[in-house]
Amino acid sequence: MEQAGKRPQVRPATEGWTQLKDESGKPKLQFAEPKRKQPPTHFADLTVEARAERVKELGLPAFRAKQLATHYFVHHTDDPAEMSDLPAAGREELVQAALPKLLTEVKRLKTDKGDTIKFLWRLFDGALVESVLMRYPGRITLCVSSQAGCGMNCPFCATGQAGLTRNMSAAEIVAQVVAANAAIADGELGGKRKGDQSQERVSNIVFMGMGEPLANYNRLMQAIRVMVAPQPNGLGMSARNITVSTVGLVPGIAKLAEEDLPLTFALSLHAPDDQLRDELIPVNSRWKVDEALDAARAYFDATGRRVSIEYALIKDMNDHAWRADLLAEKLNARGKGWVHVNPIPLNPTPGSIWTASTALVTNEFVRRLEAAGIPTTLRDTRGKEIDGACGQLAAAD
Ligand code: SAH
Repeated sequence: MEQAGKRPQVRPATEGWTQLKDESGKPKLQFAEPKRKQPPTHFADLTVEARAERVKELGLPAFRAKQLATHYFVHHTDDPAEMSDLPAAGREELVQAALPKLLTEVKRLKTDKGDTIKFLWRLFDGALVESVLMRYPGRITLCVSSQAGCGMNCPFCATGQAGLTRNMSAAEIVAQVVAANAAIADGELGGKRKGDQSQERVSNIVFMGMGEPLANYNRLMQAIRVMVAPQPNGLGMSARNITVSTVGLVPGIAKLAEEDLPLTFALSLHAPDDQLRDELIPVNSRWKVDEALDAARAYFDATGRRVSIEYALIKDMNDHAWRADLLAEKLNARGKGWVHVNPIPLNPTPGSIWTASTALVTNEFVRRLEAAGIPTTLRDTRGKEIDGACGQLAAAD
């Protein structure tokens, strides 16, 4: 259908904003966060043992820690007024010390007939982050942020355009899930279908909000440990239902593979050739396409978990048929059955020259991957009209 050479090659120029550059003129990468005051320590930052210690330091018996954890992780509340099992004297101080409020709601937007809610949160230091809650048949997914801003500088991503403000603490990450569970319990999320037996709480997490999760590795892992810890000391979620998505920080991927947790892993590839990926994903200057794919394959070997390749289809930039063929070739070269591809039409950032691929080109891209034996699922762009779809987060604020 596509004739070789007929389609133009648009290069990833930026428009309407200025990309941060390093001394050598390359897009700037920020791995270390700027020095910033950290949020107060919260139970979700601590091990179960450390929580008990903290309660004892406050002059209370250790079993109070479990009561506090139950309120927070099971009943998703940090309101002392709802904790009548705790002694009234000193209750406020205890709750303030164990479960300090980390998120202040700025805005809540609903769309898709109430099936999608976007939350905008202010952190203790004024930084803004977002999460997006989505109901699907049989599951409820929360797209969470792991950093305020992002240092990876991908030119098509709204978060990347603003640079890194700071890492989020583990508890700030977890608090997004607890807040979403509270909203669901309040009946805020619409659209439950008749006969849907799924639990009324967040069942799936995708680290596809703001930030590069593997650039905030230790806090990410603490947050995940709390998500998968059985109730009442954690959220009791399944690691399989937690997806960590990365631009391709190869050492981080290797570390993740050694965690002995069956997490779902997603690699944001977006181009199978280094020539284009160098411009599209600035971190490609450190770790090339083949290295990132090798790390993804090694993740599958270590965990048995099928890897996802994320691919935002951008008109005339990365959507050429030859690129679908090259992607399939590179994936097949590393074996069968270890990977699937999730193309997603680009969700253009405001004022951008970049647009989504046409339906015809999108279908051809998918068809070629499938013809080469690569399982491929076109992803939807939920929450588009409330700037809730990927890459749009906090752009308007
Ligand atoms: N930093 C991580 C996770 C956050 S972004 C990562 O890069 O994977 C989550 C996904 O949204 C990534 O695949 C990212 O490339 C994609 N994305 C970013 N901006 C987008 C846009 N404007 N349209 C479509 N997808 C986008």
